[in-house]
Amino acid sequence: MNLNAQQLDQDGYDVRGFSHGLYIDGTWRSSSDGRLIDVVDPSSGAVIAAVPDATVEDATAAVEAAAKAARRWRETAPRKRSEILRRCFELMVERSETLAMLISLENGKALRDARGEVAYAAEFFRWNAEEAVRITGEFGTAPSGTNRIVVDYEPIGICVLITPWNFPAAMATRKIAPALAAGCTVVLKPASETPLTAYALAALYSEAGVPAGVVNVLTTTNPGPLTSAMLADPRVRKLSFTGSTGVGRTLLGEASKHVISCSMELGGNAPFVVFDDADLDAALDGAMIAKMRNAGEACTAANRLYVQSGIYDAFADGLRKRMAALKVGAGPNADTECGPMITRKAVDKIDRLVKDAVGRGAKVLCGGAISEEEGFFYPPTVLSEVPPDAEMAHEEIFGPVAPITRFDTEAQAIAHANNTEYGLAAYIYTRDVGRGMRVASGIEAGMIGLNRGLMSDPAAPFGGVKQSGLGREGGQHHGIAEFMEAKYIAVTF
Ligand code: NAD
Repeated sequence: MNLNAQQLDQDGYDVRGFSHGLYIDGTWRSSSDGRLIDVVDPSSGAVIAAVPDATVEDATAAVEAAAKAARRWRETAPRKRSEILRRCFELMVERSETLAMLISLENGKALRDARGEVAYAAEFFRWNAEEAVRITGEFGTAPSGTNRIVVDYEPIGICVLITPWNFPAAMATRKIAPALAAGCTVVLKPASETPLTAYALAALYSEAGVPAGVVNVLTTTNPGPLTSAMLADPRVRKLSFTGSTGVGRTLLGEASKHVISCSMELGGNAPFVVFDDADLDAALDGAMIAKMRNAGEACTAANRLYVQSGIYDAFADGLRKRMAALKVGAGPNADTECGPMITRKAVDKIDRLVKDAVGRGAKVLCGGAISEEEGFFYPPTVLSEVPPDAEMAHEEIFGPVAPITRFDTEAQAIAHANNTEYGLAAYIYTRDVGRGMRVASGIEAGMIGLNRGLMSDPAAPFGGVKQSGLGREGGQHHGIAEFMEAKYIAVTF
């Protein structure tokens, strides 16, 4: 039986007993060699479902399906494409509780975070439904006066989309919605840890009127060879990837062999800078959001907290109280505020980083040791006096650990913030707007939260500088432009 939203509704969120086929050319299939991937509930380690483990042959079939659907989709009127995208938004909103529960089950995030993700993910369809009918070109006279210059924007071609496990719905819709708005057809390869949401959404797209072959979804434990095979097909013209910087680098190398356009949303190491004149409660509220959304498993998560000496003790104590009070538990439990990490390996990495920081002199204000209970839990942790050379100041923690470091001057804060190869997000708290804007322009990052702990918004360009990536998702024209190519026509008449 195939997974779809109605079945989930009827079965009260119990995903056991369902099989989840590869979604290719509008049909549900097993993999060509029949192999399966177990899907694990991170709160218990129990297997909750199995999905097909696609082969190169399956990936080739998915590209073939996307190619077959391409012409018809690009010739579909923008208004019609827009209405289908709008329907995707409406169905996601209607099914938000089901989708949130599914995300929470396979990813482990607290239900309240999962609900937030579904709302955010759905907004990409609403925003791109609105953008789909506003794609315009350019018309001008050549400086020589000999001809006119016409610039048309065309869909780039077949797109391979690769997404991580930390936002199983939003990272997919942030790519699929603008790609479809632009008139492209796609093959999505979601993370094998969280495939159920991607398949549930595929069923929903079909119900919303997305034609067969326009969106194809496949899961695999062998992403390297499958991606190489897809990128080698000359009809594939775009790779849009969200994930770690390491894998992004590998994929840029692979794409370079075929000169394929790449959008890369990669890792982060966000500084969270609090000046003495900040509103303390607002800074603590912001820190809790920036650090603890998805239990710290976010590319925009505050990874390093730099606090000026005058407010340091009050901030550290306030953060300790709030972090220690968080309710830890299985994501789907109604009162959970901090769910488990995605895997045991993720917990071990956090443990290693905390031990390293403590070994270098950091003080544990709360948490600081792996939980005894079953499942992949790490408790909310605050470390103070973390030295700038601690490994966690340079690596993504991707967990509920807040390391605090003291600073004295504005110049020191900017130097600390920029002392990383990453440049995705940064947060600044100050009541002095002039200083806020000055520091915002001094920090090397694609996105700044000034007196805000959350900046993700489909209407704004999301993306990073330095090793955090290439290209932007969302925003006016930015997101769609990643899936279009300019065609210039010189015309004399
Ligand atoms: P990851 O790089 O391990 O995996 C991401 C995706 O790439 C998965 O689907 C995975 O199966 C696939 N993949 C892995 N190796 C591959 C290969 N050789 N060829 C093709 N595909 C391959 O990352 P992750 O652990 O799933 O996600 C966490 C990372 O993602 C963090 O670094 C985080 O900062 C980053 N992230 C970035 C953003 C952003 O917008 N910048 C958003 C979310 C997550």
